[in-house]
Amino acid sequence: MNIKTITICGGGNATHAIIPILRKHFHGSIRLFLSFKNELDQFNHLMTSNRDIKAIYGSETFFGSPDIVSDNPEEACLYSDLILLPLPAFAHESVLKKITPFVIENGIIGAIPARGGFEFSSLSILKENEREDIAIFGMQTLPWACRIKEYARQVEILGEKKSVGLSLFPHEGISHISETLSNYFSVNIEPLPNMLTLSLANIGQIVHPGIMYGLFKGNEHRKYEKEEIPLFYHGVTGDIAEILEQMSNDILTITREIQKRFKKVDLTKVLGLKDWLILSYKNSIEDSRTLETSFLTNNAYRGLFAPMKKLDNGYYSPDFKSRYLTEDVPFGLIVTKAIAMLAQVDTPTIDEVIKTVSGWMEKEYLVNGDLKGRDISEARIPQNYSFNKLEQIIKL
Ligand code: NAD
Repeated sequence: MNIKTITICGGGNATHAIIPILRKHFHGSIRLFLSFKNELDQFNHLMTSNRDIKAIYGSETFFGSPDIVSDNPEEACLYSDLILLPLPAFAHESVLKKITPFVIENGIIGAIPARGGFEFSSLSILKENEREDIAIFGMQTLPWACRIKEYARQVEILGEKKSVGLSLFPHEGISHISETLSNYFSVNIEPLPNMLTLSLANIGQIVHPGIMYGLFKGNEHRKYEKEEIPLFYHGVTGDIAEILEQMSNDILTITREIQKRFKKVDLTKVLGLKDWLILSYKNSIEDSRTLETSFLTNNAYRGLFAPMKKLDNGYYSPDFKSRYLTEDVPFGLIVTKAIAMLAQVDTPTIDEVIKTVSGWMEKEYLVNGDLKGRDISEARIPQNYSFNKLEQIIKL
């Protein structure tokens, strides 16, 4: 496959990093699809002033800008062989609905990262649009930690993962797309055997709600002075590492049960959290003796604080509307819980984290451990897309 045009959807941190990174090795056209007017205006300003986005990664700087910026999905997807969605998972569905009718025949759409259940919602949108010629892929995570420094101007790349998994549906062609993206991104993109691996191996679902739970359980109502705001990843204590490990063990139990029942399904790439950290951040972790030290000495996590909101009196309180919860619970932990229910596996630590953090979010997903909460329709669980049996998921 010869990729001549790539469309990137969304204008967040990840897009700011991807544009200059792509420009290093991809010599075709880059189109940007933006849904928000203020973002469109700022990118248009970048284009009319003939400037580039500057990416800073340690002592390295590199530059890039899109060729076309548009809020019109038809214009944005014109000629595009590859469409990237570096978006929070809660934006996937609305963006997919807008762009699907305009994707070229046999085009490819990929979510970076997929988070949980991407295949259930995206395949149902493709089906509704009679566009089953389109292939979808998801990446296990974003290859970089990155933050916008100045909108449509400058981004800082804080760290780069050594290796990131990718799964494609239909599976044929996975080696080619993985190799192509490895070259474009200068990161090892590792082919994964199936989409189920993506949902179970979605590390954000453990790390984000798990650390929020650990940092704020018992401190929900505490007011913090600015200097007291805890670091997020570097705020992991021995107790928090224990919770994260138990969440990871719940997922490994689901994986073992599914493998026991479906011998041909390959879930060997669903790793425990510590193994994943070491695989992904081999070069940035200084002390990998324990899960706690693997977080505390990971340079890619340096300087990232817990999400807080500023109060009128100058104090800060935990931000329970942060995407660490709004993305990683309904598009992560709940999806895994739903798969666990289909596999008839108990997930005690995941249940406890869901129960506590969904209360903080003022959401109700589970009632007495069942997927019957009033907000369950927002979650990307297989059951919401008529996948009511494990066999149907395995078939994918
Ligand atoms: P972001 O919050 O910076 O991006 C948000 C962008 O998405 C917005 O600017 C907008 O362009 C678009 N968007 C949001 N809601 C939308 C909607 N309803 N409709 C259309 N477009 C919408 O996010 P990010 O930091 O770029 O992260 C992207 C993904 O990568 C997320 O899943 C995130 O969890 C993951 N991730 C990010 C990092 C990081 O360091 N930034 C690291 C690991 C994983």
